[in-house]
Amino acid sequence: MKPAPFDYHAPKSVDEAVSLLATHGYSAKLLAGGQSLIPTMNFRLAQPSVLIDLNGLLDLASIRPGNDGGVRIGAMSRHAQVEHSAVVAERAPLIHEAMPLIAHPQIRNRGTFGGSIAHADPASELPAVLITLQGRVQARSQRGLRWIEADDFFLGLFTTALEPEELLTEVAFPPLAPRSGWSVQEVSRRHGDYALVGAAALVELDAAGVCQTARLTFFGVGDGPVAAKEAAAALKGAKPSPESIANAAGLAASLDVDPNNDIHATSTYRRHLVRVLGGRTLAAAFARAQGTGG
Ligand SMILES: Cc1cc2nc3c(=O)[nH]c(=O)nc-3n(C[C@H](O)[C@H](O)[C@H](O)COP(=O)(O)OP(=O)(O)OC[C@H]3O[C@@H](n4cnc5c(N)ncnc54)[C@H](O)[C@@H]3O)c2cc1C
Repeated sequence: MKPAPFDYHAPKSVDEAVSLLATHGYSAKLLAGGQSLIPTMNFRLAQPSVLIDLNGLLDLASIRPGNDGGVRIGAMSRHAQVEHSAVVAERAPLIHEAMPLIAHPQIRNRGTFGGSIAHADPASELPAVLITLQGRVQARSQRGLRWIEADDFFLGLFTTALEPEELLTEVAFPPLAPRSGWSVQEVSRRHGDYALVGAAALVELDAAGVCQTARLTFFGVGDGPVAAKEAAAALKGAKPSPESIANAAGLAASLDVDPNNDIHATSTYRRHLVRVLGGRTLAAAFARAQGTGG
């Protein structure tokens, strides 16, 4: 298949890119790694009349430590670059753990961090990780720069809070609190496939081992990442135990998610996976927070 005809622009700076977006926003598409966009164009599911290629914007391909102790990841950082970043591994180990779950090495060599967040596939790992870590997304347009909180970013199926004339430039993640633990796990038919269901967890304990914060986010079970609020509320304020983890995972499966049937799995099976993966990720996260996990 070949894409419909389009005009091609290769801006050399972010200013040039946002100027092109201001002119062509509604009829343009941004080309990052092309791993999702190009197949969609080839099948003519997307027919932009203008393509703005971001691959010349090397300024957007940096990963740097944040002054607050967190990490800032440029939109054009390739998945493989993030996967092998020592700063990411040290300051945002949940991201480090998620990267090898994304597709295959060839796709990770081209696909970008910003492209995955902007694409907002409901079965993607990174949107769920962004919610779990409460990161912030930086958007640039000719009107200036704004930050969008993770909880405000994903609006629905493949839909985000980015305006047509906005470019996602960077994603910032806060530092982890002391006595934090994390885990991300998924079930897919074959290694490298999109997840049937996945779960990302982050927990924080106080000095007495009581859970101060628990965040559990599922992917592959809705129109976007789904934060399991009932499960999180049940864990807060108590010492974690196998019973409290099983209870929280059960609440997630019964109250927090409402998965659809589709050609890949039934709703019942996805709910089952939510309970199992919810329990496993929480157990692994609490073990790390207690200093007993790997
Ligand atoms: C076989 C296969 C398996 C895959 N498996 C997985 C998987 O398991 N998990 C997973 O998460 N992904 C998976 N992917 C998708 C892959 O991770 C893509 O890299 C990702 O979805 C999009 O990133 P990209 O850089 O390729 O974006 P592109 O395909 O270039 O763009 C995707 C969309 O985002 C927009 N966009 C891109 N960059 C920006 C920006 N900076 N600002 C605003 N909008 C922007 C584009 O306009 C487009 O609409 C898979 C892909 C393939 C082909």
